[in-house]
Amino acid sequence: MPAAIGRSTGTPQIVGIYCPNYCVEDHVADRQVAVEDIAHSSETAHTGIKSFVSGRLALELYATIKSDPASDDPRLREAHIVLDDASDDAHLTVDEAEETVGQLLGLAADLQRLIRTARLHNQHTAEVAA
Ligand SMILES: [Zn+2]
Repeated sequence: MPAAIGRSTGTPQIVGIYCPNYCVEDHVADRQVAVEDIAHSSETAHTGIKSFVSGRLALELYATIKSDPASDDPRLREAHIVLDDASDDAHLTVDEAEETVGQLLGLAADLQRLIRTARLHNQHTAEVAA
């Protein structure tokens, strides 16, 4: 893949780099000062949860594959998952990301139990009022 390298004031050099198949970055448009500054990232998966009070998204979660081939940290050099809630980033190895999926599935099961309880409570309240 071509990549543009050089300070923003000069003419960039176009160099050929290895780009992993998940990468969707345009490394020519996103010029870096040095080859070591190039990082790769995938398309982002996203979900947003809207509040009926504000009508706006109250919670957001983004998930992206990233890798930084010149990092000192071997976990950042490997393809890893970044979960981003729009305020902070959680960098996860693929094993940690799998554990996180288990946590989220547990949360989904707990949420379904809470929904059933709330629905039963609302039905009971409506029956008492009738
Ligand atoms: Zn790339």
